[in-house]
Amino acid sequence: MYKAPRGAADILPGEQPWWRHIERTAADLCQRFAYRRIDTPIFESSALFHRSVGEATDIVEKETYTFDDRSGDSMTLRPEGTAAVCRAYLEHGMHVLPLPVRLYSLRAPMFRYDRPQAGRYRQFHQVNAEAIGDAGAAVDVEVIELAWRLFETLGLRNLSLLINSIGDPACRPAYLDALRAYYQGHLASLCGDCNKRYHTNPLRLLDCKKPTCQPFAQDAPRSADMLCEPCRDHWRQLQDGLRILSIPFAVEHRLVRGLDYYTRTVFEVQPPEEGGQSTLGGGGRYDGLIQQLGGNPTPAVGFACGIERLILNLKRQGIALPPESEAFAVVACMGDAARPVALKLAADLRRAGLRAVLAPSGKSLKAQMRYIGASGATHALILGDDELRQGVVAIKTLATGDQRLVPLADAPAAIAL
Ligand code: AMP
Repeated sequence: MYKAPRGAADILPGEQPWWRHIERTAADLCQRFAYRRIDTPIFESSALFHRSVGEATDIVEKETYTFDDRSGDSMTLRPEGTAAVCRAYLEHGMHVLPLPVRLYSLRAPMFRYDRPQAGRYRQFHQVNAEAIGDAGAAVDVEVIELAWRLFETLGLRNLSLLINSIGDPACRPAYLDALRAYYQGHLASLCGDCNKRYHTNPLRLLDCKKPTCQPFAQDAPRSADMLCEPCRDHWRQLQDGLRILSIPFAVEHRLVRGLDYYTRTVFEVQPPEEGGQSTLGGGGRYDGLIQQLGGNPTPAVGFACGIERLILNLKRQGIALPPESEAFAVVACMGDAARPVALKLAADLRRAGLRAVLAPSGKSLKAQMRYIGASGATHALILGDDELRQGVVAIKTLATGDQRLVPLADAPAAIAL
């Protein structure tokens, strides 16, 4: 028997209410923050991700799904959202719009060849928000506020917001030198990956998850202590802004995030449970990315959060879904004469905007009622000889067990109430 690929899941009908709830909440919130929706293709030229995310990042080195299409062009299934949105920003000349351009994506599939475990998949889905074209710390605050409100509105509790500043091209080189100097004496104690990172991507020495490497990160030089004047101002304004909005945060100097394009602000939101794969969402500023992709220098900031992880945490915290109040009518009938009337009644209900189906035909009324009980229906509509003669239908409200007779033509209104 075939199975879904490892690390890729079917989203079955029973799970969809969670997805709908998150998508509605995120869409409402993004609209309130004046973000406009964008959807980009699930694959792009491989070069886009290699150039933006960085050749020496885990994502590009080990995790991309890359293939040559039939014309021999190298394509990559999207491992993250920001590069594609920036590509679209440039391709469609959005720089002529009032800046910042605020964009969001919903249920955007992402693909990473990762080791699957709880909360970590090879195909997963994100909510993303990007604000492109404004260097001010107020926009960093806005993006973090948006992320924070999303978690808050969904009802998640005890989350931690971690922030850091990793500087910009003016101050980062001196910081990287200090980091290398610090780590040089410890290389023999570090894992193989960290020995590589030392040469290719020293920032990432700080977020190695191996217990043997972590103590070294604790005492490493801190980027926020080595910022140039403009980065220091920005860092201060970011923290002031979060305080004004009463968004609690902690400075985490080991937070660097895995992608090359970040400058200045980086942040993550963690649930109460420990563990690297538990991060609910994160983001940061990427002032150099658009220029790197061939555009004019354009500052930007954004965030992404995984929907599967949101659902996992909502369930872990015992948060119930808000009830979906939509009515659902199932029509049962007895006898040959009632069947065409039932067929028409179900169609009339749907035309009136309601959800309605017929119970399976050819079964006893008892079997039809059993089906209705198991179907999630809110109302059973019963048509027998007596009802037919009177031109009425018996409507049973399943939540209460109340039953009443209603003229056929009034059934849609009776159920919609
Ligand atoms: P990242 O781009 O790695 O910072 O990811 C942003 C968010 O996407 C994370 O905080 C997670 O919520 C989610 N995410 C990242 N990788 C995965 C994965 N392999 N499976 C499920 N969710 C993921």
